[in-house]
Amino acid sequence: MNKVVEFMKAEKLKPKPDPTALQFGKHFTDHMFVLDYSQDRGWHSPRIAPYEPLTLDPASLVFHYGQAVFEGLKAYRSPDGRVLLFRPEQNVKRLNDTCKRMCIPPLDEEAVLEGLKQLIEIEQDWVPDQEGTALYIRPFIVATEPYLGVRPSNAYKFLIILSPVGAYYSSEQLSPVKIYVEDEYVRAAKGGVGHVKTSGNYAASLLAQKKAQELGYDQVLWLDAKEKKYVEEVGSMNIFFKINGEVITPELNGSILKGITRQSTLELLDHWGIPVREERVSMIDLYQAYQKGELEEVFGTGTAVVISPVGELNWNGRKMVINQFKTGELSYKIYDSITNIQYGKQHDPFGWTVEIN
Ligand SMILES: *Cc1c(COP(=O)(O)O)cnc(C)c1O
Repeated sequence: MNKVVEFMKAEKLKPKPDPTALQFGKHFTDHMFVLDYSQDRGWHSPRIAPYEPLTLDPASLVFHYGQAVFEGLKAYRSPDGRVLLFRPEQNVKRLNDTCKRMCIPPLDEEAVLEGLKQLIEIEQDWVPDQEGTALYIRPFIVATEPYLGVRPSNAYKFLIILSPVGAYYSSEQLSPVKIYVEDEYVRAAKGGVGHVKTSGNYAASLLAQKKAQELGYDQVLWLDAKEKKYVEEVGSMNIFFKINGEVITPELNGSILKGITRQSTLELLDHWGIPVREERVSMIDLYQAYQKGELEEVFGTGTAVVISPVGELNWNGRKMVINQFKTGELSYKIYDSITNIQYGKQHDPFGWTVEIN
């Protein structure tokens, strides 16, 4: 793939939305990155084009059998005006891992990263500078071959679209969420596609999410599909527990998504010398730790929220109120460290940030 990306400038630029009232995923920038795949040409014609609707054949395979994959990351504005990406090479690598599982031809990771950087450079005025805001980046691939037989598509479109997003938390205070431990529906089974970022995982999760909301909960905690005994993850977050001074998170077992925020949290804890283990976590052990007063903190990790403290878990009517529904010290410490690195407010000892231009 050619590294020099063609740029077709939009004729008219959109007005920027009010940076103090940004909602997630509602506003889109002036341009998008596009790359096509055909059997004879492979991935070809990288370009940055005006953001506009796509024209697709109604028989496009993605509409019928769901061959669609995506990624999610952000560009951050530092106090001195620089634009930073957080570990973008990890997202591109994970995108290729997802492609492999979903029978989509692999991308040239260097070239995708280059295209992404060029797009952000062109759209840099869209990176908001209010506290906690960012430019959300959504790379995705859909199967475009018009065909109704079930097999991998012979044509694809890869796009990157951008959306300025507001602060997840309205104040410096992180607000804890209430989580419903789902024991009827399951998200993913080993051997399936739960460990990769494919769209159908989300379609499959909607009903349980709806049920949890009707019961007054914010999100679902998924259990393993086979025994419904072991903790997997939350909606779009991985999960961590602090029990008696030790941190533990479910090990990557083939049905859990390998979060980049999860990995960064593990590396930070390690760097600080805080004991952390990746292993199977059972609900009964968690409940027993809770009863003994040893379940000190629970938090989710993901790009959208960074750290989301959990204030309550409801497992079959057994309610566990964590840390009196207050954000724990460790949750704050991790949140502050990761966001300070992301926004270039603190030295980045890990080389996680990538500066645009
Ligand atoms: C994307 C995602 C996460 C979080 O991954 P990050 O790389 O930390 O944003 C966790 N679980 C699921 C199911 C996801 O799709």
